[in-house]
Amino acid sequence: METKALYKISYGLYVVGSKLDGKLAGCVVDAFIQSTSSPVPTVILCSIQANQTNAAIKQTGEFTVSVLGRDVEPFVIGNFGFQSGRDADKWANVEHRLAGGLPVLDKAAAYFRCRVTDQKELSTHTAFFCEVTDAWLGEGEPLIYGDYQASMKAKTLEAFKAFKETGIVPGRQAAEKKTKWVCKICGYVYDGQTPFEQLPETWKCPVCGHPKSDFEML
Ligand code: FE
Repeated sequence: METKALYKISYGLYVVGSKLDGKLAGCVVDAFIQSTSSPVPTVILCSIQANQTNAAIKQTGEFTVSVLGRDVEPFVIGNFGFQSGRDADKWANVEHRLAGGLPVLDKAAAYFRCRVTDQKELSTHTAFFCEVTDAWLGEGEPLIYGDYQASMKAKTLEAFKAFKETGIVPGRQAAEKKTKWVCKICGYVYDGQTPFEQLPETWKCPVCGHPKSDFEML
């Protein structure tokens, strides 16, 4: 058998959100398909039995799916795919919101809320048969798993490796750098809500009274 033939089956990439003992859980999956469309849309999710998310779905019978877009930050995939929820609070590392108590990514191509109606244990995975109880459109086009393998996997590994080494979420490091400015005269560090660049030209250092021009980026 040419097992590589199986690589020609198309998938998307998705972040599943659920809850275990009241705490947010989640992981990346590719095996998520629509099975029927009427009278209500139904889907099938195949989830690795050993994953915490699998236990979460079994506990609550519910989960969300955020459809990753082509413009997804590679770190998001690494965050949900390369570490276990037993060791890390994955949702704390990404911009997200709660939809009916379950987490979804702020940025995704679409969102679903699913309720498990039946399930079957396979060799390594559980197939969850579900009804879609809600759906929302997001922004952009969905990422295809084959495109991720071909052109995003290296960036994802790199972003996740940098995160493990520094403990800093990639996007947040950049944001912090942008908003921190120091007064060259007195050493006061500006860290206000308004970006430093947007402060009026008449703004002065609250400690020594020197103008904006005497500040430099940290
Ligand atoms: Fe100052």
